[in-house]
Amino acid sequence: MTAPDGALAERLAAVRQRVTDAARAADRDPATITTIVVTKFHPASLVRSLAGLGVRDVGENRHQEASAKAAELADLPLTWHFIGQLQSNKARAVRRYAAVVHSVDRASVLDALAGDEPLDVLLQVNLTDDPGRGGVAPDAVERLAERAVATRGIRLRGLMAVAPLGEPARPAFARVRELGERVRAIEPEASALSMGMSGDFADAIAEGATHLRIGTAITGNRPPQP
Ligand SMILES: *Cc1c(COP(=O)(O)O)cnc(C)c1O
Repeated sequence: MTAPDGALAERLAAVRQRVTDAARAADRDPATITTIVVTKFHPASLVRSLAGLGVRDVGENRHQEASAKAAELADLPLTWHFIGQLQSNKARAVRRYAAVVHSVDRASVLDALAGDEPLDVLLQVNLTDDPGRGGVAPDAVERLAERAVATRGIRLRGLMAVAPLGEPARPAFARVRELGERVRAIEPEASALSMGMSGDFADAIAEGATHLRIGTAITGNRPPQP
C-alpha cells in the first residue's frame, strides 16, 4: 500500500534538502538538477499524491505499467521518463506517453523509436562487464551517438547509467561524465547525465548529474512486482 501522504511529503522534502546540500557542496546550482521520482510498482494513486506535492517528473521502467498510469493520470502536468529496458516492438508505443527515453542501448531500438515528432533520448551506458545488465558498452557509445543523431525524430540529449554493485559509485559516475564530454563533441545539446539513485545521488551530483532517478528514498519500499 501507499504510505500516508504526510510521510511521503516528509521523505520528499528530506530528499530535496539533500539534493540542494549536495549541489551546494559541489558548487552547483540546485536548479540545474532535475529529480525524477521513480514510481515503478506503485499504484497511480501514489503518483497523484506526488503530483499534489509538486512533483512533475516521474520515472517508470515497464511499458505496460507506465502506459496504464500515464493514461489514468492524463489530467496531471507530469513528464514521464522511461528508464527500463526497452524491446524494439514496444518502443513506438512508449513514444505516446514518454517525453524522454533514458534507456536506449542499441541501434534497433533507435530505429523503432524513429518518428515524425521529436523525442528526447539518452543512451544508457553499461558500467559493468555483464552484457545482461542493459546499456551500451563504453567503447561503443560514440558510434551509437552518431547513429542517434542520424535517426529521424530523435533528439540525443545525453547519457544514463546505473552505478555497478560492489564498487564505489563516484569513480563510475566520473567515467560517465567523461563519456558525456565525448558525446557532446558529436551533439552539443547532449549535455544531460541521468545518474544517481536513492543510495548514491550525492556522488552523482558531485560528478555532474543533471537528472537523478530516485525511488525508495521518496516513495518508501516498493510493493512486490505486479
Ligand atoms: C528502480 C530504478 C531506480 C530507482 O532506484 P531506487 O534505489 O529505488 O532509488 C533508478 N533507476 C533505474 C533504472 C531503476 O530501475
